[in-house]
Amino acid sequence: MPTETFEFQVEARQLLQLMIHSVYSNKDVFLRELVSNASDALDKLRLAALRDDTPDVDVSDLHIELDVDKEARTLAVRDNGIGMSYEEVTHLIGTIANSGTAKFLQELREAKDAAGADGLIGQFGVGFYSAFMVADEVTLVTRRAGETQGTRWTSRGEGTYTLERVDEAPQGTTVTLHLKPADSENQLHDYTSTWKIKEIVKRYSDFITWPIRLLPEAGDDGAEGDEGGTDAREAETLNSMKALWARPRTEVSDDEYHELYKHISHDWRDPLETIRLQAEGTFEYQALLFVPSHAPHDLFTQGYQRGVQLYVKRVFIMDDCEELLPPYLRFVKGVVDAQDLSLNVSREILQQDRHIRMIQRRLTKKVLSTVKDLMSGAPERYATFWREFGAVLKEGLVTDAENRDAILAASSFATTHDADEPTTLKDYVERMKDGQEHIYFMTGESRQAMESSPHMEAFRAKGVEVLLLTDAVDEVWADAVGEYEGKQLRSVAKGEIDLGGAQDEKSDAEKDAQGEEYAGLLGWMTEHLDEDVKEVRLSSRLTVSPACVVSDANELTPALENMYRAMGQ
Ligand code: ADP
Ligand code: MG
Repeated sequence: MPTETFEFQVEARQLLQLMIHSVYSNKDVFLRELVSNASDALDKLRLAALRDDTPDVDVSDLHIELDVDKEARTLAVRDNGIGMSYEEVTHLIGTIANSGTAKFLQELREAKDAAGADGLIGQFGVGFYSAFMVADEVTLVTRRAGETQGTRWTSRGEGTYTLERVDEAPQGTTVTLHLKPADSENQLHDYTSTWKIKEIVKRYSDFITWPIRLLPEAGDDGAEGDEGGTDAREAETLNSMKALWARPRTEVSDDEYHELYKHISHDWRDPLETIRLQAEGTFEYQALLFVPSHAPHDLFTQGYQRGVQLYVKRVFIMDDCEELLPPYLRFVKGVVDAQDLSLNVSREILQQDRHIRMIQRRLTKKVLSTVKDLMSGAPERYATFWREFGAVLKEGLVTDAENRDAILAASSFATTHDADEPTTLKDYVERMKDGQEHIYFMTGESRQAMESSPHMEAFRAKGVEVLLLTDAVDEVWADAVGEYEGKQLRSVAKGEIDLGGAQDEKSDAEKDAQGEEYAGLLGWMTEHLDEDVKEVRLSSRLTVSPACVVSDANELTPALENMYRAMGQ
Protein backbone atom coordinates (compact mmCIF):
# COMPACT_ATOMS: atom_id res chain seq x y z
CA MET A 1 0.00 0.00 0.00
CA PRO A 2 1.29 3.47 -0.88
CA THR A 3 2.26 6.08 1.63
CA GLU A 4 -0.51 8.57 2.14
CA THR A 5 -0.15 12.09 3.49
CA PHE A 6 -2.68 13.59 5.88
CA GLU A 7 -3.16 16.95 7.50
CA PHE A 8 -3.32 17.35 11.24
CA GLN A 9 -6.50 18.76 12.68
CA VAL A 10 -6.28 22.47 13.41
CA GLU A 11 -6.07 21.82 17.11
CA ALA A 12 -3.39 19.20 16.77
CA ARG A 13 -1.43 21.59 14.62
CA GLN A 14 -1.62 24.30 17.25
CA LEU A 15 -0.51 21.86 19.87
CA LEU A 16 2.43 20.74 17.80
CA GLN A 17 3.50 24.32 17.27
CA LEU A 18 3.58 24.70 21.02
CA MET A 19 5.72 21.60 21.36
CA ILE A 20 8.12 22.55 18.60
CA HIS A 21 8.62 26.01 20.02
CA SER A 22 8.62 24.39 23.38
CA VAL A 23 6.80 26.05 26.19
CA TYR A 24 8.11 23.45 28.59
CA SER A 25 10.70 24.46 31.07
CA ASN A 26 11.74 20.84 31.32
CA LYS A 27 12.13 18.90 28.11
CA ASP A 28 13.35 15.71 29.77
CA VAL A 29 9.76 14.74 30.42
CA PHE A 30 9.22 13.66 26.80
CA LEU A 31 10.85 10.36 27.75
CA ARG A 32 8.60 9.93 30.72
CA GLU A 33 5.61 10.33 28.40
CA LEU A 34 6.83 7.76 25.89
CA VAL A 35 7.80 5.27 28.60
CA SER A 36 4.44 5.83 30.23
CA ASN A 37 2.63 5.02 26.98
CA ALA A 38 4.75 1.91 26.51
CA SER A 39 3.99 0.81 30.06
CA ASP A 40 0.25 1.29 29.49
CA ALA A 41 0.50 -0.80 26.31
CA LEU A 42 2.22 -3.61 28.22
CA ASP A 43 -0.41 -3.49 30.96
CA LYS A 44 -3.12 -3.80 28.35
CA LEU A 45 -1.50 -6.75 26.64
CA ARG A 46 -0.94 -8.64 29.87
CA LEU A 47 -4.54 -8.12 30.85
CA ALA A 48 -5.77 -9.25 27.44
CA ALA A 49 -3.62 -12.37 27.74
CA LEU A 50 -4.90 -13.11 31.23
CA ARG A 51 -8.41 -12.88 29.90
CA ASP A 52 -7.57 -14.99 26.88
CA ASP A 53 -8.42 -12.20 24.48
CA THR A 54 -5.22 -12.71 22.46
CA PRO A 55 -4.20 -16.30 23.09
CA ASP A 56 -1.52 -16.55 20.41
CA VAL A 57 0.73 -13.77 21.69
CA ASP A 58 3.97 -14.37 23.57
CA VAL A 59 3.83 -12.46 26.83
CA SER A 60 6.78 -14.15 28.51
CA ASP A 61 9.15 -11.21 28.15
CA LEU A 62 7.21 -7.99 28.17
CA HIS A 63 9.54 -5.01 28.39
CA ILE A 64 10.48 -1.56 27.19
CA GLU A 65 13.67 -1.03 25.24
CA LEU A 66 15.61 2.17 24.64
CA ASP A 67 17.97 2.27 21.70
CA VAL A 68 20.32 5.17 21.08
CA ASP A 69 22.25 5.78 17.89
CA LYS A 70 24.70 8.65 18.38
CA GLU A 71 25.78 8.75 14.71
CA ALA A 72 22.27 8.96 13.35
CA ARG A 73 21.12 11.05 16.34
CA THR A 74 18.15 8.82 16.97
CA LEU A 75 16.51 7.51 20.10
CA ALA A 76 14.00 4.65 19.84
CA VAL A 77 11.51 3.68 22.53
CA ARG A 78 10.27 0.18 21.84
CA ASP A 79 7.68 -1.98 23.58
CA ASN A 80 6.20 -5.38 22.85
CA GLY A 81 2.81 -4.38 24.24
CA ILE A 82 -0.65 -4.33 22.74
CA GLY A 83 0.26 -2.15 19.74
CA MET A 84 -2.19 -0.23 17.58
CA SER A 85 -4.23 -1.03 14.49
CA TYR A 86 -4.16 1.29 11.46
CA GLU A 87 -7.44 2.87 12.58
CA GLU A 88 -6.19 3.33 16.10
CA VAL A 89 -3.13 5.16 14.86
CA THR A 90 -5.26 7.58 12.86
CA HIS A 91 -7.53 8.18 15.82
CA LEU A 92 -5.07 8.22 18.65
CA ILE A 93 -2.00 9.74 17.09
CA GLY A 94 -3.17 11.56 13.98
CA THR A 95 -5.83 13.66 15.61
CA ILE A 96 -6.69 14.96 18.99
CA ALA A 97 -9.92 13.29 19.85
CA ASN A 98 -10.07 14.89 23.26
CA SER A 99 -12.68 17.65 23.20
CA GLY A 100 -10.99 19.39 26.09
CA THR A 101 -8.08 20.29 23.88
CA ALA A 102 -9.54 23.54 22.59
CA LYS A 103 -10.06 24.62 26.16
CA PHE A 104 -6.57 23.49 26.95
CA LEU A 105 -5.08 25.62 24.21
CA GLN A 106 -7.02 28.61 25.41
CA GLU A 107 -5.94 28.15 29.01
CA LEU A 108 -2.41 27.64 27.83
CA ARG A 109 -2.41 30.99 26.09
CA GLU A 110 -3.64 32.53 29.30
CA ALA A 111 -1.05 30.80 31.46
CA LYS A 112 1.51 33.42 32.23
CA ASP A 113 4.54 31.34 33.06
CA ALA A 114 6.14 28.16 31.89
CA ALA A 115 5.30 26.37 35.15
CA GLY A 116 1.62 27.04 34.56
CA ALA A 117 1.92 25.71 31.03
CA ASP A 118 3.65 22.55 32.24
CA GLY A 119 0.83 21.83 34.60
CA LEU A 120 -1.79 22.37 31.96
CA ILE A 121 -0.13 20.14 29.42
CA GLY A 122 0.00 17.35 31.96
CA GLN A 123 -3.65 17.69 32.81
CA PHE A 124 -4.79 17.41 29.26
CA GLY A 125 -2.79 14.32 28.42
CA VAL A 126 -1.00 15.33 25.25
CA GLY A 127 1.87 13.04 26.07
CA PHE A 128 2.85 11.60 22.71
CA TYR A 129 3.20 15.00 21.08
CA SER A 130 5.80 16.02 23.64
CA ALA A 131 8.27 14.03 21.50
CA PHE A 132 8.36 17.06 19.19
CA MET A 133 10.00 19.11 21.90
CA VAL A 134 13.24 17.26 21.27
CA ALA A 135 12.79 15.69 17.84
CA ASP A 136 12.51 17.21 14.38
CA GLU A 137 11.05 13.99 13.04
CA VAL A 138 9.13 11.21 14.75
CA THR A 139 8.40 7.76 13.30
CA LEU A 140 6.06 5.29 14.91
CA VAL A 141 5.87 1.69 13.76
CA THR A 142 3.30 -0.49 15.40
CA ARG A 143 1.49 -3.79 15.06
CA ARG A 144 -1.48 -4.70 17.15
CA ALA A 145 -1.30 -8.02 19.00
CA GLY A 146 -3.18 -10.62 17.00
CA GLU A 147 -2.97 -8.70 13.69
CA THR A 148 -0.59 -9.53 10.85
CA GLN A 149 -0.02 -6.16 9.28
CA GLY A 150 1.60 -3.18 10.89
CA THR A 151 1.40 0.59 10.44
CA ARG A 152 4.06 3.24 10.01
CA TRP A 153 3.28 6.81 10.99
CA THR A 154 5.73 9.58 10.49
CA SER A 155 5.74 13.35 10.88
CA ARG A 156 7.98 16.35 11.18
CA GLY A 157 5.27 17.99 13.26
CA GLU A 158 4.66 20.65 10.64
CA GLY A 159 1.07 20.29 9.59
CA THR A 160 1.15 16.85 7.96
CA TYR A 161 1.85 13.23 8.76
CA THR A 162 2.15 10.14 6.59
CA LEU A 163 0.66 6.71 7.08
CA GLU A 164 1.45 3.44 5.40
CA ARG A 165 0.81 -0.22 6.06
CA VAL A 166 3.88 -2.36 6.54
CA ASP A 167 4.30 -6.11 6.36
CA GLU A 168 7.32 -6.55 8.57
CA ALA A 169 6.62 -5.01 11.93
CA PRO A 170 7.32 -6.59 15.28
CA GLN A 171 4.30 -6.79 17.55
CA GLY A 172 4.08 -3.74 19.77
CA THR A 173 5.21 -0.20 19.14
CA THR A 174 8.47 1.52 18.33
CA VAL A 175 8.68 5.30 18.49
CA THR A 176 11.85 6.61 16.90
CA LEU A 177 12.89 10.20 17.44
CA HIS A 178 15.28 11.97 15.18
CA LEU A 179 16.74 14.34 17.72
CA LYS A 180 17.20 18.03 17.13
CA PRO A 181 20.82 19.19 17.15
CA ALA A 182 22.18 19.11 20.70
CA ASP A 183 22.12 22.34 22.60
CA SER A 184 25.71 23.45 22.09
CA GLU A 185 25.79 25.52 25.26
CA ASN A 186 24.17 22.89 27.31
CA GLN A 187 25.23 19.29 27.27
CA LEU A 188 22.33 18.56 29.58
CA HIS A 189 20.05 18.43 26.58
CA ASP A 190 21.90 15.74 24.66
CA TYR A 191 19.50 12.82 24.56
CA THR A 192 21.98 10.57 22.81
CA SER A 193 23.98 10.52 26.02
CA THR A 194 23.38 7.21 27.80
CA TRP A 195 24.22 8.93 31.05
CA LYS A 196 21.42 11.38 30.41
CA ILE A 197 18.93 8.65 29.47
CA LYS A 198 19.74 6.67 32.60
CA GLU A 199 19.31 9.71 34.76
CA ILE A 200 15.90 10.56 33.29
CA VAL A 201 14.57 7.02 33.61
CA LYS A 202 15.75 6.76 37.19
CA ARG A 203 14.18 10.07 38.08
CA TYR A 204 10.81 9.72 36.38
CA SER A 205 10.13 6.09 35.70
CA ASP A 206 11.86 3.97 38.31
CA PHE A 207 8.62 2.48 39.65
CA ILE A 208 7.37 1.39 36.22
CA THR A 209 6.58 -2.28 36.75
CA TRP A 210 8.10 -3.39 33.43
CA PRO A 211 11.83 -3.58 32.80
CA ILE A 212 13.16 -0.56 30.93
CA ARG A 213 16.27 -1.74 29.15
CA LEU A 214 18.94 0.37 27.57
CA LEU A 215 20.70 -1.27 24.66
CA PRO A 216 24.39 -0.57 24.35
CA GLU A 217 25.29 1.35 21.24
CA ALA A 218 25.55 -0.78 18.13
CA GLY A 219 29.18 -1.76 17.62
CA ASP A 220 30.15 -1.27 21.25
CA ASP A 221 30.44 -4.95 21.98
CA GLY A 222 31.79 -6.04 18.63
CA ALA A 223 28.43 -7.45 17.60
CA GLU A 224 28.92 -5.99 14.16
CA GLY A 225 27.59 -8.04 11.34
CA ASP A 226 25.16 -9.74 13.63
CA GLU A 227 21.91 -9.54 11.74
CA GLY A 228 19.86 -10.49 14.77
CA GLY A 229 20.71 -7.07 16.17
CA THR A 230 19.23 -6.44 19.53
CA ASP A 231 19.34 -9.93 21.11
CA ALA A 232 23.09 -10.22 20.85
CA ARG A 233 23.62 -6.98 22.71
CA GLU A 234 23.62 -7.15 26.46
CA ALA A 235 20.96 -4.73 27.67
CA GLU A 236 21.05 -2.96 31.00
CA THR A 237 17.85 -2.66 33.04
CA LEU A 238 17.56 0.90 34.30
CA ASN A 239 14.62 0.84 36.69
CA SER A 240 14.11 -0.99 39.97
CA MET A 241 10.47 -1.90 39.12
CA LYS A 242 9.47 -1.80 42.75
CA ALA A 243 5.82 -1.18 43.45
CA LEU A 244 5.97 1.89 45.67
CA TRP A 245 2.75 1.03 47.47
CA ALA A 246 4.22 -2.22 48.70
CA ARG A 247 7.38 -0.67 50.12
CA PRO A 248 7.63 0.69 53.67
CA ARG A 249 7.14 4.43 53.76
CA THR A 250 10.55 5.00 55.30
CA GLU A 251 12.23 3.50 52.25
CA VAL A 252 10.53 5.69 49.70
CA SER A 253 11.38 9.33 49.13
CA ASP A 254 8.76 12.01 48.59
CA ASP A 255 10.11 12.50 45.09
CA GLU A 256 9.46 8.87 44.23
CA TYR A 257 5.88 9.12 45.45
CA HIS A 258 5.43 12.32 43.49
CA GLU A 259 6.65 10.72 40.26
CA LEU A 260 4.17 7.90 40.67
CA TYR A 261 1.45 10.47 41.22
CA LYS A 262 2.40 12.25 38.02
CA HIS A 263 2.43 8.98 36.11
CA ILE A 264 -1.08 8.01 37.14
CA SER A 265 -2.71 11.43 37.29
CA HIS A 266 -1.21 13.07 34.19
CA ASP A 267 -0.67 16.08 36.41
CA TRP A 268 2.81 17.50 36.29
CA ARG A 269 2.67 19.24 39.60
CA ASP A 270 3.46 17.64 42.93
CA PRO A 271 0.49 16.38 44.91
CA LEU A 272 -0.63 18.23 48.01
CA GLU A 273 -0.73 15.12 50.16
CA THR A 274 0.30 11.48 49.96
CA ILE A 275 -1.73 8.91 51.88
CA ARG A 276 -0.53 5.39 52.44
CA LEU A 277 -2.63 2.57 53.78
CA GLN A 278 -1.89 -1.10 54.45
CA ALA A 279 -4.57 -3.59 55.36
CA GLU A 280 -3.53 -6.99 56.57
CA GLY A 281 -5.49 -10.03 57.63
CA THR A 282 -8.24 -11.84 55.82
CA PHE A 283 -8.57 -9.29 53.07
CA GLU A 284 -5.23 -7.83 52.27
CA TYR A 285 -4.64 -4.70 50.22
CA GLN A 286 -2.35 -1.73 49.90
CA ALA A 287 -3.40 1.73 48.91
CA LEU A 288 -1.44 4.78 47.93
CA LEU A 289 -3.62 7.83 47.49
CA PHE A 290 -2.83 11.36 46.45
CA VAL A 291 -4.66 14.61 46.96
CA PRO A 292 -3.73 16.87 44.03
CA SER A 293 -2.70 20.46 44.62
CA HIS A 294 -5.06 21.78 41.95
CA ALA A 295 -8.60 20.94 40.95
CA PRO A 296 -8.72 19.66 37.38
CA HIS A 297 -10.61 21.86 34.93
CA ASP A 298 -13.35 19.29 34.37
CA LEU A 299 -14.06 18.25 37.96
CA PHE A 300 -17.66 19.38 37.74
CA THR A 301 -18.41 18.06 34.28
CA GLN A 302 -20.29 14.91 33.55
CA GLY A 303 -17.53 13.00 31.80
CA TYR A 304 -14.97 13.48 34.57
CA GLN A 305 -12.95 10.29 34.95
CA ARG A 306 -12.99 9.54 38.60
CA GLY A 307 -11.54 6.81 40.70
CA VAL A 308 -8.18 5.30 41.43
CA GLN A 309 -6.28 2.55 39.65
CA LEU A 310 -7.00 -1.00 40.66
CA TYR A 311 -4.26 -3.62 40.76
CA VAL A 312 -4.63 -7.22 41.77
CA LYS A 313 -1.44 -8.78 43.10
CA ARG A 314 0.69 -6.18 41.26
CA VAL A 315 -1.17 -6.69 37.99
CA PHE A 316 -2.79 -3.58 36.60
CA ILE A 317 -6.53 -4.18 36.19
CA MET A 318 -8.14 -0.84 35.46
CA ASP A 319 -7.89 2.94 35.56
CA ASP A 320 -10.58 5.02 37.22
CA CYS A 321 -12.08 2.33 39.41
CA GLU A 322 -15.09 4.31 40.63
CA GLU A 323 -16.12 1.77 43.20
CA LEU A 324 -13.13 2.51 45.41
CA LEU A 325 -14.13 6.02 46.48
CA PRO A 326 -17.41 7.92 46.75
CA PRO A 327 -18.18 10.59 44.10
CA TYR A 328 -17.41 13.48 46.43
CA LEU A 329 -13.81 12.27 46.69
CA ARG A 330 -13.49 12.01 42.92
CA PHE A 331 -10.46 14.29 42.90
CA VAL A 332 -8.34 11.74 44.78
CA LYS A 333 -5.86 9.82 42.62
CA GLY A 334 -3.87 6.72 43.42
CA VAL A 335 -3.49 2.99 43.41
CA VAL A 336 -5.21 0.19 45.28
CA ASP A 337 -3.59 -3.23 45.07
CA ALA A 338 -5.81 -6.01 46.40
CA GLN A 339 -4.46 -9.50 47.04
CA ASP A 340 -7.61 -11.56 46.99
CA LEU A 341 -9.57 -10.42 43.98
CA SER A 342 -9.75 -12.37 40.77
CA LEU A 343 -7.74 -11.02 37.86
CA ASN A 344 -10.90 -11.39 35.84
CA VAL A 345 -12.80 -9.03 38.06
CA SER A 346 -15.31 -6.94 36.11
CA ARG A 347 -17.13 -3.68 36.83
CA GLU A 348 -20.31 -5.63 37.56
CA ILE A 349 -18.56 -7.81 40.10
CA LEU A 350 -16.87 -4.80 41.69
CA GLN A 351 -20.19 -3.09 42.23
CA GLN A 352 -21.46 -6.06 44.20
CA ASP A 353 -18.28 -6.93 46.02
CA ARG A 354 -18.38 -6.75 49.79
CA HIS A 355 -14.61 -6.36 50.07
CA ILE A 356 -14.57 -3.46 47.65
CA ARG A 357 -17.19 -1.75 49.78
CA MET A 358 -15.02 -2.34 52.83
CA ILE A 359 -12.06 -0.80 51.07
CA GLN A 360 -14.16 2.17 50.05
CA ARG A 361 -15.30 2.81 53.60
CA ARG A 362 -11.79 2.59 54.94
CA LEU A 363 -10.27 4.82 52.24
CA THR A 364 -13.01 7.39 52.72
CA LYS A 365 -12.40 7.64 56.44
CA LYS A 366 -8.68 7.86 55.88
CA VAL A 367 -8.95 10.68 53.35
CA LEU A 368 -11.29 12.62 55.63
CA SER A 369 -9.06 12.21 58.65
CA THR A 370 -6.08 13.29 56.59
CA VAL A 371 -7.87 16.50 55.64
CA LYS A 372 -8.81 17.07 59.26
CA ASP A 373 -5.18 16.62 60.27
CA LEU A 374 -4.10 19.11 57.64
CA MET A 375 -6.50 21.59 59.14
CA SER A 376 -4.80 21.54 62.49
CA GLY A 377 -1.29 20.55 61.48
CA ALA A 378 -0.70 22.40 58.21
CA PRO A 379 -3.15 25.30 57.92
CA GLU A 380 -1.67 26.64 54.69
CA ARG A 381 -1.93 23.31 52.90
CA TYR A 382 -5.41 22.93 54.30
CA ALA A 383 -6.34 26.34 52.91
CA THR A 384 -5.14 25.22 49.47
CA PHE A 385 -7.10 22.02 49.80
CA TRP A 386 -10.25 23.82 50.76
CA ARG A 387 -9.96 26.40 48.01
CA GLU A 388 -9.54 23.68 45.38
CA PHE A 389 -11.80 20.93 46.67
CA GLY A 390 -14.09 22.33 49.37
CA ALA A 391 -17.04 22.63 47.00
CA VAL A 392 -16.72 18.96 46.01
CA LEU A 393 -16.18 17.66 49.52
CA LYS A 394 -19.36 19.36 50.71
CA GLU A 395 -21.37 17.22 48.29
CA GLY A 396 -20.63 14.45 50.75
CA LEU A 397 -22.65 16.25 53.43
CA VAL A 398 -25.69 15.53 51.28
CA THR A 399 -24.82 12.09 49.96
CA ASP A 400 -22.86 10.38 52.73
CA ALA A 401 -24.81 10.49 55.97
CA GLU A 402 -22.46 7.98 57.59
CA ASN A 403 -19.48 10.32 57.31
CA ARG A 404 -21.32 13.58 57.74
CA ASP A 405 -19.66 14.43 61.03
CA ALA A 406 -16.21 13.68 59.69
CA ILE A 407 -16.85 15.85 56.64
CA LEU A 408 -18.19 18.71 58.77
CA ALA A 409 -15.15 18.43 61.00
CA ALA A 410 -12.91 18.86 57.95
CA SER A 411 -14.94 21.74 56.50
CA SER A 412 -14.55 25.47 56.92
CA PHE A 413 -16.71 28.42 55.95
CA ALA A 414 -16.29 32.10 55.25
CA THR A 415 -17.79 34.16 58.04
CA THR A 416 -18.66 37.70 59.08
CA HIS A 417 -16.52 37.09 62.15
CA ASP A 418 -13.28 37.37 60.18
CA ALA A 419 -12.86 38.64 56.64
CA ASP A 420 -9.79 36.48 55.96
CA GLU A 421 -9.99 33.38 58.11
CA PRO A 422 -12.77 30.87 57.50
CA THR A 423 -14.26 29.17 60.51
CA THR A 424 -15.30 25.67 61.45
CA LEU A 425 -18.79 25.06 62.80
CA LYS A 426 -17.17 24.04 66.06
CA ASP A 427 -15.52 27.44 66.46
CA TYR A 428 -18.71 29.19 65.42
CA VAL A 429 -20.66 27.44 68.15
CA GLU A 430 -18.02 28.32 70.71
CA ARG A 431 -18.38 31.99 69.82
CA MET A 432 -22.20 31.99 69.92
CA LYS A 433 -23.66 34.71 72.09
CA ASP A 434 -25.72 33.95 75.17
CA GLY A 435 -29.24 33.43 74.03
CA GLN A 436 -28.34 32.82 70.37
CA GLU A 437 -30.05 29.58 69.49
CA HIS A 438 -29.17 28.96 65.87
CA ILE A 439 -26.28 28.89 63.47
CA TYR A 440 -26.95 31.52 60.84
CA PHE A 441 -25.78 31.44 57.28
CA MET A 442 -26.42 33.31 54.11
CA THR A 443 -25.93 32.10 50.56
CA GLY A 444 -25.13 34.34 47.65
CA GLU A 445 -22.92 35.08 44.71
CA SER A 446 -20.16 36.77 46.63
CA ARG A 447 -19.13 37.85 50.07
CA GLN A 448 -19.49 41.47 49.05
CA ALA A 449 -23.04 41.05 47.78
CA MET A 450 -24.05 39.30 50.97
CA GLU A 451 -22.42 41.82 53.26
CA SER A 452 -24.40 44.64 51.69
CA SER A 453 -27.67 42.72 51.74
CA PRO A 454 -30.50 44.08 53.91
CA HIS A 455 -30.84 40.57 55.35
CA MET A 456 -27.62 41.16 57.17
CA GLU A 457 -28.58 44.38 58.95
CA ALA A 458 -30.01 43.06 62.16
CA PHE A 459 -27.19 40.55 62.48
CA ARG A 460 -24.61 43.23 62.07
CA ALA A 461 -26.40 45.50 64.50
CA LYS A 462 -26.51 42.73 67.12
CA GLY A 463 -23.04 41.45 66.36
CA VAL A 464 -24.39 37.99 65.50
CA GLU A 465 -22.02 35.97 63.33
CA VAL A 466 -23.25 34.77 59.93
CA LEU A 467 -21.59 32.21 57.65
CA LEU A 468 -21.23 33.50 54.11
CA LEU A 469 -21.62 30.65 51.64
CA THR A 470 -21.01 31.00 47.93
CA ASP A 471 -21.00 27.46 46.47
CA ALA A 472 -24.18 26.16 44.85
CA VAL A 473 -24.00 23.04 46.99
CA ASP A 474 -24.16 25.15 50.16
CA GLU A 475 -27.93 25.45 50.01
CA VAL A 476 -28.41 21.79 49.68
CA TRP A 477 -26.10 20.60 52.39
CA ALA A 478 -27.39 23.07 54.93
CA ASP A 479 -30.87 21.68 54.41
CA ALA A 480 -29.66 18.09 54.48
CA VAL A 481 -27.54 18.50 57.60
CA GLY A 482 -30.18 20.55 59.43
CA GLU A 483 -28.28 21.00 62.67
CA TYR A 484 -24.90 20.86 64.30
CA GLU A 485 -24.45 20.04 67.99
CA GLY A 486 -28.15 20.62 68.56
CA LYS A 487 -28.10 24.06 66.89
CA GLN A 488 -30.22 24.47 63.81
CA LEU A 489 -28.67 25.83 60.66
CA ARG A 490 -30.83 28.80 59.68
CA SER A 491 -30.71 30.84 56.51
CA VAL A 492 -30.89 34.59 57.21
CA ALA A 493 -33.00 34.93 54.09
CA LYS A 494 -35.72 32.56 55.17
CA GLY A 495 -38.81 32.95 57.34
CA GLU A 496 -39.03 35.06 60.46
CA ILE A 497 -35.81 35.76 62.21
CA ASP A 498 -35.88 35.86 65.95
CA LEU A 499 -32.53 36.75 67.33
CA GLY A 500 -33.96 35.94 70.74
CA GLY A 501 -31.86 36.87 73.72
CA ALA A 502 -29.31 38.30 71.40
CA GLN A 503 -31.64 41.16 70.63
CA ASP A 504 -33.59 43.85 72.47
CA GLU A 505 -36.89 42.47 73.62
CA LYS A 506 -40.05 44.19 72.61
CA SER A 507 -43.05 43.35 74.71
CA ASP A 508 -46.05 41.71 73.08
CA ALA A 509 -48.09 44.76 73.92
CA GLU A 510 -45.63 46.96 72.06
CA LYS A 511 -45.74 44.67 69.05
CA ASP A 512 -49.51 44.70 68.99
CA ALA A 513 -49.61 48.46 69.18
CA GLN A 514 -47.15 48.69 66.27
CA GLY A 515 -49.21 46.21 64.30
CA GLU A 516 -52.31 48.38 64.67
CA GLU A 517 -50.44 51.52 63.80
CA TYR A 518 -49.19 50.08 60.51
CA ALA A 519 -52.17 47.89 59.62
CA GLY A 520 -53.39 50.31 56.98
CA LEU A 521 -50.02 50.62 55.28
CA LEU A 522 -49.39 46.87 55.31
CA GLY A 523 -52.84 46.17 53.86
CA TRP A 524 -52.30 48.74 51.12
CA MET A 525 -48.90 47.30 50.25
CA THR A 526 -50.14 43.73 50.21
CA GLU A 527 -52.86 44.74 47.77
CA HIS A 528 -50.51 46.57 45.44
CA LEU A 529 -47.78 43.95 45.50
CA ASP A 530 -50.28 41.15 45.22
CA GLU A 531 -48.73 39.66 42.07
CA ASP A 532 -45.22 39.54 43.49
CA VAL A 533 -45.36 38.75 47.20
CA LYS A 534 -47.40 36.56 49.48
CA GLU A 535 -47.45 38.79 52.53
CA VAL A 536 -46.14 42.12 53.80
CA ARG A 537 -45.27 42.15 57.48
CA LEU A 538 -43.44 44.22 60.06
CA SER A 539 -39.92 43.07 60.76
CA SER A 540 -37.27 43.58 63.36
CA ARG A 541 -34.52 42.26 61.07
CA LEU A 542 -33.81 45.64 59.49
CA THR A 543 -31.98 48.57 60.99
CA VAL A 544 -31.36 50.88 58.05
CA SER A 545 -33.19 49.59 54.98
CA PRO A 546 -36.94 50.28 54.89
CA ALA A 547 -37.85 46.84 53.48
CA CYS A 548 -36.48 43.52 52.26
CA VAL A 549 -37.78 40.43 50.50
CA VAL A 550 -37.61 37.10 52.35
CA SER A 551 -38.59 33.54 51.46
CA ASP A 552 -40.82 31.22 53.41
CA ALA A 553 -38.86 29.03 55.78
CA ASN A 554 -39.49 26.01 53.63
CA GLU A 555 -39.05 27.65 50.27
CA LEU A 556 -36.01 27.66 48.04
CA THR A 557 -33.56 30.41 48.82
CA PRO A 558 -32.61 32.71 45.94
CA ALA A 559 -29.25 31.00 45.27
CA LEU A 560 -30.84 27.58 45.15
CA GLU A 561 -33.55 28.87 42.85
CA ASN A 562 -30.75 30.11 40.60
CA MET A 563 -28.99 26.77 40.75
CA TYR A 564 -32.08 24.85 39.77
CA ARG A 565 -32.84 27.38 37.09
CA ALA A 566 -29.30 27.00 35.73
CA MET A 567 -29.90 23.25 35.68
CA GLY A 568 -33.01 23.91 33.55
CA GLN A 569 -35.52 22.90 36.20
P1 ADP B 1 -2.48 9.42 26.82
O1 ADP B 1 -1.37 8.48 27.15
O2 ADP B 1 -2.73 10.42 27.89
O3 ADP B 1 -3.74 8.73 26.37
P2 ADP B 1 -0.80 10.11 24.62
O4 ADP B 1 -0.73 11.27 23.70
O5 ADP B 1 0.42 9.85 25.42
O6 ADP B 1 -2.04 10.34 25.56
O7 ADP B 1 -1.17 8.83 23.79
C1 ADP B 1 -2.33 8.81 22.99
C2 ADP B 1 -2.82 7.41 22.77
O8 ADP B 1 -2.02 6.74 21.81
C3 ADP B 1 -2.77 6.51 24.00
O9 ADP B 1 -3.91 6.66 24.79
C4 ADP B 1 -2.67 5.12 23.38
O10 ADP B 1 -3.96 4.64 23.08
C5 ADP B 1 -1.93 5.37 22.11
N1 ADP B 1 -0.51 5.01 22.28
C6 ADP B 1 0.51 5.86 22.48
N2 ADP B 1 1.67 5.19 22.61
C7 ADP B 1 1.37 3.87 22.52
C8 ADP B 1 2.13 2.64 22.58
N3 ADP B 1 3.45 2.65 22.80
N4 ADP B 1 1.46 1.49 22.40
C9 ADP B 1 0.13 1.46 22.19
N5 ADP B 1 -0.64 2.56 22.13
C10 ADP B 1 -0.04 3.76 22.29
MG1 MG C 1 0.52 9.04 27.49
